[in-house]
Amino acid sequence: MNILVVGAGPTGLTAAVELARQGIVPVVAEKRPEGSGLSRAVGILPESLELLAPSGTAQALLRKAMRIERAKIFLGDTLKVTLPLDISDDLHDTAVALPQDRTEEILRERLAAFGGAVSFDREVVDITQNATGVDVSFANGRRQRADYVIAADGVHSRIRTALGIAYGGRDIEEIWSIADVNARDWPHDRSFVLARANTGHMAVVAHMAPQRYRVVSNTPDALKSLRLPMDVTRINRQGQFHLAARQAKRYQMGRVFLAGDAAHCHSPVGGRGMNLGIADAADLARRLIADDLDGYHDARHAAGAKILAETERLRLFLSSSRAVNTLTIRAALTLAGALPPLRRRIANRFLHG
Ligand SMILES: Cc1cc2nc3c(=O)[nH]c(=O)nc-3n(C[C@H](O)[C@H](O)[C@H](O)COP(=O)(O)OP(=O)(O)OC[C@H]3O[C@@H](n4cnc5c(N)ncnc54)[C@H](O)[C@@H]3O)c2cc1C
Repeated sequence: MNILVVGAGPTGLTAAVELARQGIVPVVAEKRPEGSGLSRAVGILPESLELLAPSGTAQALLRKAMRIERAKIFLGDTLKVTLPLDISDDLHDTAVALPQDRTEEILRERLAAFGGAVSFDREVVDITQNATGVDVSFANGRRQRADYVIAADGVHSRIRTALGIAYGGRDIEEIWSIADVNARDWPHDRSFVLARANTGHMAVVAHMAPQRYRVVSNTPDALKSLRLPMDVTRINRQGQFHLAARQAKRYQMGRVFLAGDAAHCHSPVGGRGMNLGIADAADLARRLIADDLDGYHDARHAAGAKILAETERLRLFLSSSRAVNTLTIRAALTLAGALPPLRRRIANRFLHG
């Protein structure tokens, strides 16, 4: 079987690793000249680690990543509750943090171990298909015929557009911001920190590596919106980004399959985006190997729709400035602070969705 994976982000690389470890080494075409230096996603959730375990990727990630032991939730500058995330040594209960570029590097290493590689500087510009195969054209004028194509080419997917698949949903009128920093003496190491103000403004801090932190906020300035004292020694990168909540109407058209951000996008609330793409990719690779492709759209479209709806509900609830939301959150966190089983339940929800 001749498979072309378009896009070497976490989704495309997971699909390639999963296929290669089972004996089908795909071609992976990536338009960038080299690996991305962007560290967008940080949180790798238990389901992803489980899916990545058979290829040895999870074990490699665990060696490099920061294990997240707890989530701390602040209202204003008051710590309301600490949720235990380090529940057991089982992969099934482990969440880790690693900048996305490092995760992609480890996936490329695992792909190489199974005999595969990424072809950089290979931008797909067009795609056509018939009953027997798919023809892909590249920006350098070359063409390639494949039995199947996995479109993991991200939120602006050229393939999705070329096939005329609608990306339904909406753009969100908010400016979010991100900062990757080095800091000294942050008292919340190995933690995921959420600090929310009564206005609905939030800042989230994830510990990525020794003395290295990611701050994300639903305001235009992540560092300014963080009300907890942080002794920043260096700003490695900061910027703003826009959000959308969209999903492709179809994940399959003939011999072409959409996966990852090409199929869905939503806000980073809950840290699900990359994890959902990894799950799409693992499911698709399994179905390609088992020649069981018919259920892909139904299974993964439903999984994506569920996460999109939950993420949007949570984003709207947390970021609202309505007093009733703040009162509800305060009451729920006070209760969770007093009741260990409730704390475990919330932690479980965070880890497993
Ligand atoms: C600020 C921010 C924070 C985030 N935090 C989290 C988080 O904590 N947890 C989480 O799970 N998710 C998070 N996400 C979401 C996560 O980054 C994405 O869901 C994830 O990158 C999607 O992976 P992907 O491989 O599907 O797409 P991408 O990572 O976008 O990869 C697509 C690849 O395809 C290539 N490509 C595009 N077009 C072509 C073409 N025509 N030909 C060849 N190659 C092409 C691109 O160069 C790129 O390498 C965050 C996103 C942002 C913006």
